[in-house]
Amino acid sequence: MVERVRPRLLLVEDEPQLTALLIRLLGEEGYAVEHAGDGQVALHRTLTRPYDVVVLDRGLPVLDGIELLRRMRRRGLGVPVLILTARSAVADRVVGLDAGAEDYLGKPFEIDELLARLRALLRRHLDSAEHLPLPAGRSLDLQARQVRDADGGMVQLSEREARLLTLLASRPTRVFSREELRRRVFTDADSENVVDVYVHYLRGKLGRDAVRTVRGVGFQLGRR
Ligand code: CA
Repeated sequence: MVERVRPRLLLVEDEPQLTALLIRLLGEEGYAVEHAGDGQVALHRTLTRPYDVVVLDRGLPVLDGIELLRRMRRRGLGVPVLILTARSAVADRVVGLDAGAEDYLGKPFEIDELLARLRALLRRHLDSAEHLPLPAGRSLDLQARQVRDADGGMVQLSEREARLLTLLASRPTRVFSREELRRRVFTDADSENVVDVYVHYLRGKLGRDAVRTVRGVGFQLGRR
């Protein structure tokens, strides 16, 4: 089974001491932390990797934090962003929120407050996304194609894995025949055993019990 993935956080900060401190503390808190030291690198990262949340310093080399955020939003990136900045006057907060930030924290800050705000951001983000419930308190984020555990862990699915799981989870008690799954999720160009291959992938990522085989009939969403 694939190891459960921790919430992915991108830290965009150019000050080395604060960066080192935050990487350590956020890592201890259970985040999978990646770091970008300037706005251009951060833009590239957010466009090519799925993050659950971004912590963004406002004053950055190459591309400042506000311009970076505007470009992210223009490209349709919906990842929640918390801006961290020495400039915390009301006018500055407004600029940040207008650019598309969900939250704003002035430096210096208490680490506990940062952690609490990140938890709140992640919760709100999860609540507003389209989710299909799965057994055992899991849910499928349809847009991000991620399976979330009740405790915030996450497993990334491919597009076709997600389509197969979505169909099964849309009628949790129903047994689907191979033919129907093949017709509704895959194409004629796919190999004869494509449904079995993708059931195998889903079990590999989510556990053996994620999909139930009903002998002689087909497949059904598992109980856990
Ligand atoms: Ca800075």
